[in-house]
Parts: sequence; structure tokens; C-alpha cells
Amino acid sequence: MSLININIKKYYNNFGLTCDFSISNGITGIFGPSGSGKSTLLNALAGFIKPDLGQISIQSQSFFDSNKKINIPPDKRNIGYVTQKANLFPSMSVDENINYGYKKQNKIKLNRIIDIMNLNNLMEKLPGEISGGQSQKVAIARALASNPSVILMDEPLSELDLNSKLMILDYLKKIHIEYKIPIIYVSHDIAEMIAICDNVFLINRGSITKNISPTELIYENSNESDFQNIYSVVLDNEKNLKLNNQTIQINEPVENNHLTIMIPSSSVMVANIENNFLLSDNVFDGILKNIVEFDSHIKLVCDVGFEIIADISKEYYQKSNMKLNDKICVIFKSISVVISKS
Ligand code: ADP
Repeated sequence: MSLININIKKYYNNFGLTCDFSISNGITGIFGPSGSGKSTLLNALAGFIKPDLGQISIQSQSFFDSNKKINIPPDKRNIGYVTQKANLFPSMSVDENINYGYKKQNKIKLNRIIDIMNLNNLMEKLPGEISGGQSQKVAIARALASNPSVILMDEPLSELDLNSKLMILDYLKKIHIEYKIPIIYVSHDIAEMIAICDNVFLINRGSITKNISPTELIYENSNESDFQNIYSVVLDNEKNLKLNNQTIQINEPVENNHLTIMIPSSSVMVANIENNFLLSDNVFDGILKNIVEFDSHIKLVCDVGFEIIADISKEYYQKSNMKLNDKICVIFKSISVVISKS
């Protein structure tokens, strides 16, 4: 069932946004090049920009209708908005920032938000005393505390280092599992979109062009050979993680039961043999699901019980004689697995 219906037109001198699409529950990605209209679309949803024409409704409630002259102001739309910068109130503590928009009738309990986001030790601190990653956690907690019917996220992780990014992706997954609040997620980062989204809309020059599954993003645009395979995993024992039914070995013991890991595509090796005689800490048999050629390298999409992307050189690809649906073996070292630290 569609939850959000958007059919709007917005014109600037040199740009027009013309969108007609619907969004269902889950985490929906909006992906497109810079200047394609992603922020304009989110701002129209949030009520910061008034479309020239059209309708916007969320959960059957009309927020904008040019025919009926409806334009609900942003503070009455009940939408959470998280942007690149946390924009916390600098003179208020973390506690006061999160409490700012809290609604008493909220079915979401503040203590629970603080627990899930692991903010207990930061509550008395001022925004100037915490890191960028911690500030984004507070911004997300503040958005949740307002009991939103939808959360919009515009490049929320683009200014963060890898560890903070993995950590927050982990928290976002937890939030989504617990609260099932629909999230509309904008990012340039394909790996991030694949890790977090259930469904992706492509936008180009102000129009939605395609609705795809997140993994299809790598066919759209990923010429770089440093793709990040990001996974939510469960701790099996201190150096073994479970991903689907597979076990991934890591190099250092961890304590968290749920965490996010990253394996760079450049650290993943693929061979078209079975693993009988290979000795490594992470070796998986699987099938070669797709081969995507770029100018500088080849991306292989492998299914080994989970999907993993490897980058190989064109020379190796030609020598190996690999073909689609071949049985393959995927290898990566435990030392290549980057683990989120909260
Ligand atoms: P994205 O978020 O995909 O990078 P934006 O939605 O920020 O793209 O911008 C889309 C286009 O709309 C750009 O060409 C931008 O210059 C134009 N635009 C955005 N806001 C305004 C404005 N207030 N006045 C004129 N043009 C604007």
C-alpha cells in the first residue's frame, strides 16, 4: 500500500522538478547526480518549498494540494528531517536537544530512544563537546522524539568518517526494526544506499526515471574500484560473525551482539574453482551472478549466501575465463573486515 503520494511540479529559472510517484513503507532511497532535484523534492515534502502545482499526501492526509489551496506548514506535517549537518542547538545539552520536540503523547519512549542510540553517556554534554558521528546520532534521536510519521534523511552520513558511518547505519537499522517508521534516504554513496535501503528511485534532471532494487545501483554508476560491501551482522562468538547462514571471521574480538561491518571490494578475491584446497580465514563457495565492466576494472557480483562485490582487473578477468553463473570461490582476509565501533 502506498504511504506517500507525490505528484508535483516546481519550476526555477533553469530547473524544473516534475515528480509523480508513490512510496511504500520501508527505507526508500532517492539517488541521482548533484543538481538532479533530490533536496528540492525533500524540501517540498517537508513543506519548506511550495510546489507550483500538484498534490502531496502522507498516510492519506493531504499536505499540499494546489487545486484545493492546501499547504500545511512544516511544523504541522509531523515529518522528521535529518541533514548533512546535525544542526543541534549549541547552547542546549544533548538531553535538552532531544527533548526539544518531544511530544508527551508519543508512543515512542524517550528512554528507549536513548538506549537504542547508546546516548546515555552523552546526555549532559553540549554539542561542541561531542564528535560529528555522535552529533548525527543526537540529530536522529531528536527527529525520532518528535514522533514523526516519516523521516527524511538528506546525505546524513556524508561528512562522517567510515567508523561513524558504519555505526550510524547500524543504529538506523535498529531504529527501523523497532519503530517501522518509513524513511526517505538521499545519498550519493552507492554502498550506503545498498546497505540501508529496501527500494530505490533514480532521479535525473528533476524527474524520477526508474524504481530499482538497491543492488542494481552498481550498474547505474560505480566506476570507482573501492566499493564498500556493508552488512549488518550478528555476533556468533567473539571472533565469528553470522551473516545469513554464513560465518565471517574477524581479526579482533568484539562484544556487541549486532554490528555493521565493511569489506572493501578491492580486498575480495574471486577464483573460478571450488575451495577444497584453499586455506584462508574467509573462503566461501558460490555463484557468479553478474559481471559489470567499467573503464578501469570489472566488478563481479557473487552470491555466497550473501551478496558480495569484488573488483578485479581486466587482465585477470580475461585470464580467468570466468562466465556468468560459474561456480566460484570468494576469499577475503579477516584483517580486511572493518568493524563499526560505537
Ligand atoms: P540535488 O539535491 O539533487 O543536488 P537540488 O534539489 O539542490 O539538487 O537542486 C536542483 C536544481 O534546482 C539545481 O539546479 C539548483 O540550482 C536549482 N535550485 C534549487 N533551489 C533553487 C532556488 N531557490 N532558486 C533557483 N534554483 C534553485
